[in-house]
Amino acid sequence: MSNRVNMLTEPKAVELIQSYGIPYPSNKFVTSAVEAIEALKTLKSPVVMKIVSKDIVHKSDAGGVKVNLKTAEDVENAYEEILANAKKYNKDAEIEGVFICEMADKGEEVIIGIVVDDIFGPTIMFGLGGIFVEVLKDVTFRVCPIDKSEALEMMKEIKGYKILQGTRGQAALDIDSLAELLSNISRLAVERKDISEIDFNPVRVYEKGVKVLDARIICNG
Ligand code: ADP
Ligand code: MG
Repeated sequence: MSNRVNMLTEPKAVELIQSYGIPYPSNKFVTSAVEAIEALKTLKSPVVMKIVSKDIVHKSDAGGVKVNLKTAEDVENAYEEILANAKKYNKDAEIEGVFICEMADKGEEVIIGIVVDDIFGPTIMFGLGGIFVEVLKDVTFRVCPIDKSEALEMMKEIKGYKILQGTRGQAALDIDSLAELLSNISRLAVERKDISEIDFNPVRVYEKGVKVLDARIICNG
């Protein structure tokens, strides 16, 4: 297809980010409902299932994400529904299978992105999720690579930083792990010249640890 972007599928993107020490929930790529039921046995329930197709960039828009699945029956139904929804959304989409991932605990959501600037090269963006980015445009940028201390400085620039520090009886979140994640992804962006765009949305931040829940990586050409 001519208008296809050169996107890594999420299982491939996750393999790459994990090789840079970036945390993502335990997962399995499956190509049938039977395989999905088998995978459920090896993962911690509940799980999330997502469409795997290079032709579907925004998975939820395609009805391609099902969350909170607990039983073999849930997983079997989700597999069939995800495939049917994806075909309805784009009848020409080449569908590889389904990504089944452990469901992450609730947490504060942030977004991290990379775009490659013509002059500066890879540039990293950070912000809190939801209205902070969509309405308030409360985001901050740096040219890559950044080390951990630069990542900490960067985070302090957003108005929402107070939320990460913990306010009104809320515990402070793991800003240190978040800084490490920012630094690691900036390094990946510099080393991998074939990457043109990265979008982690959402990343969850906990009192201890962070987790990327959605890893979209676009390559050149
Ligand atoms: P897309 O952005 O392509 O629609 P996502 O992978 O971001 O797809 O999934 C959509 C939503 O599902 C996420 O914003 C998040 O709320 C939820 N989600 C995805 N993966 C997980 C997970 N492993 N644990 C918990 N929630 C998840
Ligand atoms: Mg997403």
